[in-house]
Formats: sequence, C-alpha cells, structure tokens
Amino acid sequence: MPTSRSSFEFRPRSHHTNSVPRIDTQRPIRESVPTCRLCCEEKELCRSHIIPEWAYRPIYDERSRAIVLDSEKRRARKIQQGAWERLFCASCEQFFNRLDQPMHRFWSDPSRRPDHLNKACVEVQGIDPVATRDFLLSVLWRAHVARGHAFSAVDLGPHSDRILAILRNGSENLTRDPYAVFGYVLREPQTTDVADRLVLTPVKTRTAGQWNYVMAFLGYAWQVFVSREAPPLPDSCRLKQTGSIVMPVIDRDELAPIGVLLKARAE
Ligand SMILES: [Zn+2]
Repeated sequence: MPTSRSSFEFRPRSHHTNSVPRIDTQRPIRESVPTCRLCCEEKELCRSHIIPEWAYRPIYDERSRAIVLDSEKRRARKIQQGAWERLFCASCEQFFNRLDQPMHRFWSDPSRRPDHLNKACVEVQGIDPVATRDFLLSVLWRAHVARGHAFSAVDLGPHSDRILAILRNGSENLTRDPYAVFGYVLREPQTTDVADRLVLTPVKTRTAGQWNYVMAFLGYAWQVFVSREAPPLPDSCRLKQTGSIVMPVIDRDELAPIGVLLKARAE
C-alpha cells in the first residue's frame, strides 16, 4: 500500500526519530517527469516553438503594426515572443529545426515577393515542394501535441501517426499523400503591401465539407487539407511536385478564418 501523507501524519511518532520518513510539504507528493512529446524519453525539455520564431520577426521589428491572432480565444494577443511550450528534448528540437530551415530560407527571402500586390495571382517557382509541405505538416503536428489554448483546435486524430511517419521517413510524392497544400498571398487592403505582420496559428476550418487547417505568417496563408478525399479547390492552385504554386492574392481579412478573427477582434 503506498504511503500517503495523511496516513503518515496520524501515525504515532516513533521514539527512533531517524526512522521517521521526512516529508517536504513544499513539494508535490509525486513530481511529474518531463517527457519529450516526440521521442517519449524523460529528458530536459526545450522551449519549443509551434510556429518558429523567424515567422514572428516582422512583428518584432515593428510592434506598433503587429497583429497576432489567437485562433482559440478569437482575439488578438500582444506577445513578446512566439508561442512556445516545453515539448521536445534538444535532439528532437534539431529534428524540427531541420524541417524549419529550408522553409525559412525560401519564404523569408524578400526578393521573392513583389512590393505591391496588384495582380489576382502570384506564381512562385523553384519551391522545394516536399520541404514546404513537410514544414506545414510539422507545424500541425507540433500544434497537435501542444497543450496551450491557442492550439486546442488542432486535433489530427488518426492522421497524427501518418503525418509523423511522413516527417520521419520522408515522402517524395506530394500527390500520393492526402495532404494537399494551397497558398495565398496576403495583402494589406489599404496599401496593397504584403501583409507580413500577421501570424495566425493553425485554425481548423471546413471547405466544401472537407476539414483543413489554415495558418499564416510572413505574408502568406497556407491551407492544408487533412482528408483522404481530393481537395475541393482547383488543382491548378495546389502546390505541385514540380515546385510551383499559383497563389491567389487576397486582402488579409478576406480569407475566411482570418476575416472572422479580425472581425471578432474589432468588436
Ligand atoms: Zn526527444
């Protein structure tokens, strides 16, 4: 029978004081040991970002125009640092870092984006399609295992294991896996600049009956379908194996989840 605190307290004191177990009342009876959410080993855990810090850099640079949308609380938050939790050990952080860096290098490059968005669509070429898709899936997986309110809407269900297998083992074929990716360039409605001072943590949404997640950072919104069915959007806009994507240009509050959140923020 385990020794409980109450049974000890009511036990008659022994005159052999050294034999009496000491209880530190300042400490919990049973401490929880941190367990890495990826390797499941008991290790010291890092501050793990769900969306990497570089996605928040345009916001740090000019906080007066910062918009960070909290998908759970449906309001904007003022944050000093990108959302993080103690989730992964140092070596598992490296695993995610290897997925983060190609995305950062390609999509943070300012020469890649037009200054003003006057066209209906922007075609981007030269993408590493697998790296882009895997990064987006990794953000969803990190949000799936996170405990914070901001990510409670992300529940990958049976797709969690499948996505993790893709991230671990690699998959070179975008069309074989049921995670279609669509992208949008976000425009500031007043200035037609790229709306890169906005971070949207993954929001679960439904498009023509199919579940998908939308997230936004660096002036782009990404829509990832988590379904075995063919996505209900034009195939011409899907991220292709050839490394090109046609991204519709939309005002930042036109994309449904972002519009809803911005409206809620204004109320
Ligand atoms: Zn680990």
